[in-house]
Amino acid sequence: MGISEDGGLFVPQNFPKLDLNKVLQLNKQGYEQLSAYVLSMFFEETDGDLLSLTKSAYKSFDAKSVVPTVKLTEQNYVMELYHGPTLAFKDMALQILPRLTSLFLKEHQQEEKVLVLTATSGDTGKAALEGFANVENTAIVVYFPVEGVSDIQKLQMVTQEGENTSVCGVYGNFDDAQTGVKALFADKQFVEYVKQKGYTLSSANSINFGRLIPQVAYYINTYADLVNQGKIKLGEEINFCVPTGNFGNILAGYYAKCMGLPVKKLICASNNNNVLTEFFANSEYNANREFFQTMSPSMDILISSNLERLIFEICNRNSNMVKDFMEQLNHHKKYTITAEMKEKLNCFYAECCNEEETKATIKNTFEMHGYLMDTHTAVAQCVYEKYQKQTRDTTLTVVVSTANPYKFAGDVLCALSGEVEADAFVAVSKLNTLSKVRVPQAIIELNTKAVAHKDCVNKNNLKKAVEDFLEK
Ligand SMILES: *Cc1c(COP(=O)(O)O)cnc(C)c1O
Repeated sequence: MGISEDGGLFVPQNFPKLDLNKVLQLNKQGYEQLSAYVLSMFFEETDGDLLSLTKSAYKSFDAKSVVPTVKLTEQNYVMELYHGPTLAFKDMALQILPRLTSLFLKEHQQEEKVLVLTATSGDTGKAALEGFANVENTAIVVYFPVEGVSDIQKLQMVTQEGENTSVCGVYGNFDDAQTGVKALFADKQFVEYVKQKGYTLSSANSINFGRLIPQVAYYINTYADLVNQGKIKLGEEINFCVPTGNFGNILAGYYAKCMGLPVKKLICASNNNNVLTEFFANSEYNANREFFQTMSPSMDILISSNLERLIFEICNRNSNMVKDFMEQLNHHKKYTITAEMKEKLNCFYAECCNEEETKATIKNTFEMHGYLMDTHTAVAQCVYEKYQKQTRDTTLTVVVSTANPYKFAGDVLCALSGEVEADAFVAVSKLNTLSKVRVPQAIIELNTKAVAHKDCVNKNNLKKAVEDFLEK
């Protein structure tokens, strides 16, 4: 189940405690080992072989260590989460989720198949399609905002192969798509219709608990990398700076901290859609605001769904209170947390940066460190630099890198050279000439793939895509 029957999100009953010495050992044996350990702490009930599951999930990654830890300066590291098949961090979880789904279907001998419905701001969609394509007893429908994704992102989705996949554009923005999908889950008649067709609904969005847990693993892994490489001592605290949209990635970092990972600050980086920056500053979450389309589209979000899980933790797991806040959010698009709750947010720092700052950061980072970063990662790098200036904190900080720069080649090229190149593939080639950074095979292949999905629907009619798919 992606979401509970009353519309709330699933959370762990408690946070299992990490054995850090064991973590260091497993880190030496490889990412797959560490990830399987973290999964086993949350999915105790399965007899399934989680190690073979993580091994097959991360096999296709084009980095031997799966998640490389790269040094920019003694204080400033980057954790690269984009070495999966779709070139963004979503693969970290979405290569695991379908395998977990299959495993649990088998273990529970469930007869119904699973129909995954997913709204995407760009990267989730492709990663989910890639993860679920041709997976037995599953099918997937992805909704993307027609005007809200990059050319490469869109091409990646509409060229998806696999009998059990469907992709549909939505006239509206990401919040429209996400709200529409949530409404489908709550629509009893629709759920019944899907059931009659032999399916039960699930979600591949980051509200799905099965997506959250695989993400916890990489925070732990990078910490272990730094200890094992002698950069920090065991027990020493570090910071993570995370480019944030739906609050899934950074929440996984918070969960890792709750499990005992020595984390000092979780720095929440936003683009012009800075609803979270204001929330952390003044306790009010207010989604009544203008929506901006930015060059970091996967963070163009006004309703950060996973914040609900953080709210749950900081109000002492009082689910009635959470329900109340979420109802306020639904009806009035805003809510304000109590002073007591705000105090529990001390381990967070939040800041935002605009488009010019994002571009300048891409350029500076490349010129100063020879390191090429994508637009989302640049938001985080920029916010880290602001944090550093403001606080003088010298704690080692890991900036979380969420996408391969070629996925946003046009904007990255423009940031570096000032050149505006409308054709995505020409931009890729020019960026390659300029940066000498290798172009991933997945981008090269995209140029010649056939478009398989052409449908678009009105934001009030998401149902239609499912009906078309199931009646096909
Ligand atoms: C999804 C995504 C984000 C935002 O992550 P959340 O978990 O939604 O906060 C940032 N960068 C990229 C490239 C993404 O695909």
